[in-house]
Amino acid sequence: MISDIRELSFDELSRYFGSIGEKTFRAQQVAEWIYQKGVWSFDGMTNLPRPLLEKLKRDFELKANAIAAKQVSREGTTKFLFDLHDHEKIESVLIPTATRTTACISSQAGCKFGCKFCASGIGGWSRNLTCAEIVTQVLHVKEEALKHKRPLTNIVFMGTGENFDNYDNLMKAIRIINSDKGMNIGARHITISTVGVVPKIRELAQEGLQVELAISLHGYDNASRNVLMPVNKKYPFDELIAACREYVRLTKRQITFEYILIKNVTCTENAVQNLKKAFKGLICKMNLIPYNPVSEFDHKTPSKEEMADFRDRLEEAGIHATIRTPRGKDVNAACGQLRHQADQ
Ligand code: SF4
Repeated sequence: MISDIRELSFDELSRYFGSIGEKTFRAQQVAEWIYQKGVWSFDGMTNLPRPLLEKLKRDFELKANAIAAKQVSREGTTKFLFDLHDHEKIESVLIPTATRTTACISSQAGCKFGCKFCASGIGGWSRNLTCAEIVTQVLHVKEEALKHKRPLTNIVFMGTGENFDNYDNLMKAIRIINSDKGMNIGARHITISTVGVVPKIRELAQEGLQVELAISLHGYDNASRNVLMPVNKKYPFDELIAACREYVRLTKRQITFEYILIKNVTCTENAVQNLKKAFKGLICKMNLIPYNPVSEFDHKTPSKEEMADFRDRLEEAGIHATIRTPRGKDVNAACGQLRHQADQ
């Protein structure tokens, strides 16, 4: 099978040109066309000689994703459902705010982790996305952002899938997105979210990448985390926090804990006291996310007052916490929801 040219790192692309007797500066030209000028075909690379374009077409694929659905919310959040070559469906979202323009990207088709609040786990896992499939989502979202004269500033890997279950492809894609020869998006503007795959948190700490790490915590001890996060059986709460401490020690970077506020489950006084103990001395902040109801699960969102009180209690306990404003609710922009609806 012909491979997608976006599978290649810049060094691999340079080696390819060397192998066909071309000057390696061609790698820079091709990378510019793909990642900076956003062409979707080799024929769009107008400064390359025709015989070289024919070689590229012989050796590689370069095309846009088929778009199965696109929904735009009132505030400009745009959600794409892409139909891949094997008809797996994946989601990506463009989220514009006053200060940034963010792409939310998927790393797997489906998910095997089955977090109890999430629609993505319901249909199960199909496969890992390739590096090219990850990068191509970013290219589509970037193109959409530029139509609105908004350069893409941030990437969050918070779409469908557990990022660390597809670690190698994700890392390769991130290096292309981050490279000044690729999409040139600063590592500090790239956030990787994980449910807490402990060995990979430790591996990321060794990568030398200045990316942001967000942990889907959604529980304040083993018992409460077991309710929502089946992964906690494999990587229990204390092991996860220990890996986070190690990550912060090695990288000197702050960790963000994502924490869904569910009435009488995660939003309780007991939670505040346990989190205070667990986070003692750890450089971190908490993103509190109002629960976004999924019809299959019988959880409830706390009232605004309950959520504000919970945040205030955390702040009093010395934990910096903010309540995240849900965006794109009217386009089902929560993780996995568009794909889930398309499956039905
Ligand atoms: S929250 Fe993420 S890891 Fe958990 S089921 Fe959903 S997609 Fe999978």
